[in-house]
Amino acid sequence: MNDLDKARKALKDHFGYDAFRPGQQGVVEAVLSGRDALAVMPTGAGKSVCYQVPGIVLDGLTLVVSPLVSLMGDQVRALLDAGVRGAYLNSTLTPGQQATVLRRALAGAYQIMYVAPERLSDPRFLAFAREAALPLVAVDEAHCVSQWGQDFRPSYLAIGDFIGQLPKRPAVAAFTATATERVRRDIVRLLDLRDPYEVVTGFDRPNLYFGVERLEPKRKVARIASYALEHPLESGIVYCSTRKDTDKVHAALVAAGVRATRYHAGMSAADRTESQRAFITDDAPVMVATNAFGMGIDKSNVRYVVHHNMPGSLEAYYQEAGRAGRDGEPSTCLLFWSDGDVSTCRFFIEQESGNEELTPKEADAVRASRRRLLEAMCGYCLTTGCLRRYILDYFGDQQVPPACQPAERAGAAEVSGTESCGSKPSSRPEGRYVGLSPQSPAPENPSLTSRTTGDFSCGNCSNCKGDFEAVDVTDTARAVMRCVQELRGRFGKGMVVDVLRGSQNAKVLDLHLDQAASFHTVDAPASQVKEVVELLAAGGYLAITEGSYPVVGLGPRAREAAEEGFSLSMKRVVRKAERARKAGGGVGMAAGTAFGGSGTASSAEDVPALFERLRALRKRLADEAGVPPYIVFSDATLRDMCAKLPATEDEFLDVSGVGATKLARYGAAFLEELAVWQGEAAE
Ligand code: ADP
Ligand code: ZN
Repeated sequence: MNDLDKARKALKDHFGYDAFRPGQQGVVEAVLSGRDALAVMPTGAGKSVCYQVPGIVLDGLTLVVSPLVSLMGDQVRALLDAGVRGAYLNSTLTPGQQATVLRRALAGAYQIMYVAPERLSDPRFLAFAREAALPLVAVDEAHCVSQWGQDFRPSYLAIGDFIGQLPKRPAVAAFTATATERVRRDIVRLLDLRDPYEVVTGFDRPNLYFGVERLEPKRKVARIASYALEHPLESGIVYCSTRKDTDKVHAALVAAGVRATRYHAGMSAADRTESQRAFITDDAPVMVATNAFGMGIDKSNVRYVVHHNMPGSLEAYYQEAGRAGRDGEPSTCLLFWSDGDVSTCRFFIEQESGNEELTPKEADAVRASRRRLLEAMCGYCLTTGCLRRYILDYFGDQQVPPACQPAERAGAAEVSGTESCGSKPSSRPEGRYVGLSPQSPAPENPSLTSRTTGDFSCGNCSNCKGDFEAVDVTDTARAVMRCVQELRGRFGKGMVVDVLRGSQNAKVLDLHLDQAASFHTVDAPASQVKEVVELLAAGGYLAITEGSYPVVGLGPRAREAAEEGFSLSMKRVVRKAERARKAGGGVGMAAGTAFGGSGTASSAEDVPALFERLRALRKRLADEAGVPPYIVFSDATLRDMCAKLPATEDEFLDVSGVGATKLARYGAAFLEELAVWQGEAAE
């Protein structure tokens, strides 16, 4: 059997999958042949398989470097459940346990071992590694090596040294979900990848609906509560930017009757473990958390991710939102933002005394890159073009969302290749969008310039769904800029609006502002002018101070607003995104759609009932085995079971996600449940 056959067999036997996904096979083949690799794949694309399958096939021990110490236990549990000999080594183990793991590893007890990057500089570990046979070192979350990204971790810089000290150089494979061109080059350089096989799979997640809504802070919680209550059977994550907000939103959701739990770094370790458990086991289907939660959480049935605040970068946003729908089923990502979120992010960037590990120069560079990242994030909130297109452009993805795809390109959506990822496939459709070249790391607020992506429609985001119309407010924006300049940053939003609209109120008259050149230069309603002020602040053209009397001054990009190409458009909500979506949605309907056309004995109405039964069985088995339900089977596997209705062990093996180990462990119980259900259905 050749290597690829062995790999396919491992994929089937241990993970229950019939075929590699686009992108996976190339990496697996490269690594098996001893070549380095760099894989850039979005969350949920299946990066783990790319090193776990080689880890199974290769002789010796595959090391997986990962920063996600708290999740190593889970990852290894999932491996053991799939019949793979896995282990991990980190500070959660006692020194005695660590010694045992290393001794057993040297004796060949494991195929795959997870370690934290700090471990690589430990002389005892190096001594171990020099003695062990290591065919492959896989580096997960490889963007952590770059200062340019959002998660720089200096300990990652030691990985290259570590590899250099091994007697025989292993293949080195780097994996990341979020990397712009610049970060990719850093990964290759800093990890010293040699002629790596590179693959950048499509960043598109067609099953995710993206929505952006600008909401006043006080209205956010009510909106989130009603969303959660409208989707009572679904599991979701609500991200908040601070611990305080997390507690507040959690309390409000619970009071509204949502079964929610919470997670942030201010809680005790025991409480956090308990929250995580409650969420993963679906005891509390909704998690309210700061960004401390979720790195590497592999709960595949998260149906929605709602952001209560705007995150500091599109990288962070896409990674967090991407935790929805890992099983490929339709899922929703909503971002609620207010201009206060933008000032909070700015404040954090400037105040951050930073990581003590950084030199002042490094810290400066980090701050500068964070400002750029924030700008791109604001652009996402403000753009009137397709949200999906904006994300794909940002990550330099040449892929066209399916709805916009010319027929001849359909089915060839994944871009992969062995060439440098900087080289562009020639099939890029000309003139279909005014894209930004994939080399440019940060688009400049598309809605605020003439470079809009407005011609595009993915049909599955709030902008494409036409939940708003774009109103050109360039003239008002220019008037606002002139007014703020004239008032020299001494007044708040309200006064700026009053002066522009020619108000005769006492304060305006007392201060003789009716004499100002910008007095009564705008005729729009006050609410609209106020919104334009806020949009300009969000875009960095204006700056609004913090504190009890916030005043409006010019922002870092004020000059650009005076330039010729400047334009500003504003979204005006036509109808509520959710109301429109609900007309074609709801829990039952979503299941019906997923099963549509499966052509099996089960009818669309019956299937949700069966699905619920299988889900209950899964929960029971998981509780008995002390593992999270998704480790037993994913939602996608349960759905495939409903569609295929297997009656024999052979048929059960045909279900996607069922391998030999899972068959042996859970086959009988599920086959019995299916048989009972079919018996009832026949009556
Ligand atoms: P990532 O690490 O890229 O975020 P994971 O490795 O967690 O993604 O995989 C996401 C999901 O996809 C998991 O449930 C995994 O079992 C599933 N998966 C991976 N490879 C395949 C495949 N070839 N066929 C079907 N499902 C797969
Ligand atoms: Zn769209």
